[in-house]
Amino acid sequence: MKTNDTYIQSLFAERLGGRMFGKDTKIYKFEKIKRAKRAALAANPGAELIDLGVGEPDEMAFPGVVQALQRAAEIGKEAGLHYVYAGNLPGMVGEYEDTFCPQCNYRLIERSGYTIHAYHITGEGTCPKCSTKIPGLWPKDPSTVELNGRGMPLPVRFR
Ligand SMILES: [Zn+2]
Repeated sequence: MKTNDTYIQSLFAERLGGRMFGKDTKIYKFEKIKRAKRAALAANPGAELIDLGVGEPDEMAFPGVVQALQRAAEIGKEAGLHYVYAGNLPGMVGEYEDTFCPQCNYRLIERSGYTIHAYHITGEGTCPKCSTKIPGLWPKDPSTVELNGRGMPLPVRFR
């Protein structure tokens, strides 16, 4: 690891595939998935691949995994952390897929996986109930948020 890596970059790298992600020739999870898709299409010309999401597991998580993630999220919330999530288990972790206002606990975004079912952040990026500023990049026009769609994250670019 280079010493000038930021803390967040390090955390992100750990999540994606390790501290050397993108810095060496080893291939990681997403590249392996891409290669497996290419190989499957080459072996089965004309077949339609159903993409269940990049890197999402095809099988349901074991109940113990779900319980452990929920408990970890509860511990974080009880400790006073804001924006606590238990992810990659769409529909299995209750409110821990949703975004809540840290001030008044209003449910700002209701999700299942990447699919948004309800969106209530204002065009100014605030809670509609108490006007608390919600950190993040939010659409200026909340009506443009696609509800109940396929749900894929938008690419984020830094200026
Ligand atoms: Zn609020």
